Amino acid sequence: MLLEQSSIPHILNKQRQFFATGKTKDIDFRIEQLKKLKRAISDYQEKIAAAVKADLNRPKFEAYFELTFFTEINDAIKKLKSWAKPRRVSTPIEQFPAGAKIYPEPFGIVLIIGAWNYPFQLVISPLLGAIAAGNCAIIKPSEIAVNTSKVIADLIANTFESNYIAAVTGGVEVSQKLLAEKFDYILFTGGTKVGKIVMEAAAKNLTPVTLELGGKSPCIVDDDIQLEYTAKRITWGKFINAGQTCVAPDYLLINKSVKSDLLEKIKQSIEEFYGKNPAESPDYCRIINQNQFNRLNDLLKDGKIVIGGETKSEERYISPTVIDGVSWDSAIMQEEIFGPILPVLEYENLDEAIALVNSRPKPLSLYFFSRNKQKQKQVLRETYSGNVCINDTVMQVGVTSLPFGGVGNSGIGSYHGKASFDTFSHYKSVLNKGLWLDLNWRYAPYKNKVNLIKNIIFR
Ligand code: NAD
Repeated sequence: MLLEQSSIPHILNKQRQFFATGKTKDIDFRIEQLKKLKRAISDYQEKIAAAVKADLNRPKFEAYFELTFFTEINDAIKKLKSWAKPRRVSTPIEQFPAGAKIYPEPFGIVLIIGAWNYPFQLVISPLLGAIAAGNCAIIKPSEIAVNTSKVIADLIANTFESNYIAAVTGGVEVSQKLLAEKFDYILFTGGTKVGKIVMEAAAKNLTPVTLELGGKSPCIVDDDIQLEYTAKRITWGKFINAGQTCVAPDYLLINKSVKSDLLEKIKQSIEEFYGKNPAESPDYCRIINQNQFNRLNDLLKDGKIVIGGETKSEERYISPTVIDGVSWDSAIMQEEIFGPILPVLEYENLDEAIALVNSRPKPLSLYFFSRNKQKQKQVLRETYSGNVCINDTVMQVGVTSLPFGGVGNSGIGSYHGKASFDTFSHYKSVLNKGLWLDLNWRYAPYKNKVNLIKNIIFR
């Protein structure tokens, strides 16, 4: 059964009732639900691949990028008992007799709103964290990836009772209806502008949020590199999913001395990956819709196209494109590109490149290519971003032991792996005192006790 938006308050009410039974707190129940999710994903893989093909012309290989979090489910199943265990912490002597523990507990009802570029992963991967932490959840996939959105709704309806996990489909209006309700936690993936709207709505109920947003992720390339591998890794990260990847390198900032050689190698890599005419390649995606195509098409007017630049509006095709001669004031440098267009800027020394990056809002990802360890350290020390990958692009997202998220304009909070469990858990602090002894150092009359409190404080 697909859920209508008019039933949002009803579903929420049912989920509240179900959460109140305490069933979702049971570890065996959670493990059972994770196993169900795992089976469902495995059963639906062909449908998911077909849906992302229909939405983005995704080749089957790249369709599986939607499922890279699959191993996280196994990991959660294996480790959940230990993650969910209360953790004992030390107590100071003046508390004696006492024990202190931290109890992870679910928030309650979680809302997960997703973006269209990795439409399956962006709602189902956080969902596994919400389940592992013992919450109920409502997920709203992006309406723009219309085919995948339907598959998600179908998978969820066939796998879970809606009083536990429900998928609600629809656009901005549905999203706003959901945000008008009170949730116990919201994880949102999308643009910075909408992120602010989500946070404002959440603030009305003091609902905590994780915001997974975007931004312009720089790729700094210094002179001490392995040219061929650098070119391949940049080309791959930029042009998978036709550049519609939140962590894709947005622009290149290249040391002047290697610029022309690197651009030549990038050109070769593009040809190696997608052939002489990428429009005919079975491995090259299309732009999600006409609006996005038109927006990107306008950005082609900046600078000088040195690679690609071909478009076919009726197919929403934009070839892998590299643009030289753009300035920091060009339109293409003002907003996240989110498409297969790579502008190139150059620098003479690394300090200058770092200062340029730091003059912009903090990006989601930052890439630095250099074999020089001192320079690697300098970039790590002097720049600010959600995450960093040295000598590669995008691959940091595949390390599930690294929490994934932005900072500043690129987001708040993180998830993936154990961080997903942490995100959807409230860590409740509990002090448990013994009743067999009562030290009276804290009680009035305080006469002669000032030295005692001084000793406790300044010990
Ligand atoms: P978006 O912000 O337009 O939409 C995201 C979701 O918000 C959709 O489900 C949509 O229905 C809903 N929405 C849109 N407008 C709304 C409004 N006014 N009020 C309430 N809800 C609204 O983002 P998008 O175009 O789907 O995705 C692209 C953006 O997402 C890019 O900026 C990209 O960098 C970012 N992104 C970030 C990550 C990450 O993990 N950090 C991953 C993927 C995409």
